[in-house]
Amino acid sequence: MLESNQISKNTFVNKSMIDKFYHIHNYCCQINVYDSELVSGQLQTLGYKETNNLDLADIILLNTCSIREKAEETVFNRLDSLHYLKKNKPSLLIGVLGCMAQNLKNDLLDSKPYVDIILGPDSYRKLSQIIYNRQNPLTNHLVDTKLSKYEIYDDMFPSRKSGVNAWISIMRGCDKFCTFCIVPFTRGRERSRPIENILNEAKNAINEGFVEITLLGQNVNSFSTEKGDFPVLLNELAKIIGLKRIRYTSPHPQDITDDLLEVMSKHDNICNHIHLPLQSGSTKILKRMNRTYTKNKFLSLVDRIKSYMPDCSISTDIIVGFPGETEEDFLETLSVVKKVKFNFSYMFKYSARPGTKAAEYSDQIKELVKQERLEKLINIQRNLTLMNNKEKVGSIQHVLIEKISKKSSDFWSGRTDGNIWTIIKKNSESVKDVVPVRITEAKGLTLFGENINN
Ligand code: SAM
Ligand code: SF4
Repeated sequence: MLESNQISKNTFVNKSMIDKFYHIHNYCCQINVYDSELVSGQLQTLGYKETNNLDLADIILLNTCSIREKAEETVFNRLDSLHYLKKNKPSLLIGVLGCMAQNLKNDLLDSKPYVDIILGPDSYRKLSQIIYNRQNPLTNHLVDTKLSKYEIYDDMFPSRKSGVNAWISIMRGCDKFCTFCIVPFTRGRERSRPIENILNEAKNAINEGFVEITLLGQNVNSFSTEKGDFPVLLNELAKIIGLKRIRYTSPHPQDITDDLLEVMSKHDNICNHIHLPLQSGSTKILKRMNRTYTKNKFLSLVDRIKSYMPDCSISTDIIVGFPGETEEDFLETLSVVKKVKFNFSYMFKYSARPGTKAAEYSDQIKELVKQERLEKLINIQRNLTLMNNKEKVGSIQHVLIEKISKKSSDFWSGRTDGNIWTIIKKNSESVKDVVPVRITEAKGLTLFGENINN
């Protein structure tokens, strides 16, 4: 069996591979973006080059998500279109990676027999061996979805596209088992990378020209090692010279500790933003979701965050139409949303995932009711976001310039410390600069302003 240390520059490279191309497409979360960078690193070591031209590609990989049914449907449709490509180019390798591979395993092959590779999130190392076997000569379909208690890909190097932000995975898996969520089944048990190795990866990213890092994990703040927990890691990272900003996602409210809030408030380069997934404002529903906090505990956590960082942006995830959610439960969610005044929210209709506990509950909510609740919630949140943004008019926000604005090449687009996209008129500043911006206008999700140093 192939071991990780066999994936070196010399392994499996031969002349016939020099002009081979791969294409990798991500669905959903940033964790998939990072995992795809790890996979890209392997393929590039083997001599493959990345392409966005599907006709040129010898390998097409879809890195998938199973969180909601819709995400899986999108991948199925994409696979159908790839089938046409394969008819014209039978040597094309099609692979499904990630949560959907893990969730559906061999069932995927039953409906899509032209898929060559199915690799779960703990099996990416196998890719080199598969590609090697494919050349001399083709082995048939390969399905590997064995979950590991130990795999953290700590010795593999992501191939990042140059830019402002580098994603860094610090832990994998989840032990929380929320009753709606497929993640513990597709990503396995929680495991964390050693602090030293994360620090090295962050320093390398800075040396490569990145100025921001975003730490990733299904439950990023459950990070735990013998040498320290999440606040210890953040504290060490914040000392890295040249690291202008640190963000992290997604934390669980249960693991937001005073130590964490203290470290966040102490360092200017740790962003003033916490993503705090509420899921529901009804204690009854939270209990059924196995979320481990009540409505009141969540509200006092928000107060605690604000006592450390009064200007901290708070965003959230909310699910409407969880089984058994009555109109009163939904109204409780709306009341928490109005009370906290989240800066922004990711809002979802509950999607039953086979294999999870909540999918077995007998009191599922009708699609129409879910849709109505989602629309009401989106409207309220939209107004709150605008209201929060309008309150920033006249204030000075520190904006990290990330790119040229999509609307006009005369403007920059960047994010505030609190993660709000901001547009400023181009002047002498450059991408990767952090500049003080006086906010002059708020429209929807976006702020507009001017660099006060010009
Ligand atoms: N670990 C984070 C937490 O504890 O909240 C969340 C990570 S989860 C991958 C991202 C979001 O997807 C969740 O916060 C939840 O709102 C949403 N989600 C998960 N399962 C879902 C389902 N079955 N239906 C609808 N939304 C779901
Ligand atoms: Fe899913 Fe997050 Fe719950 Fe884990 S904590 S089961 S990732 S929602």
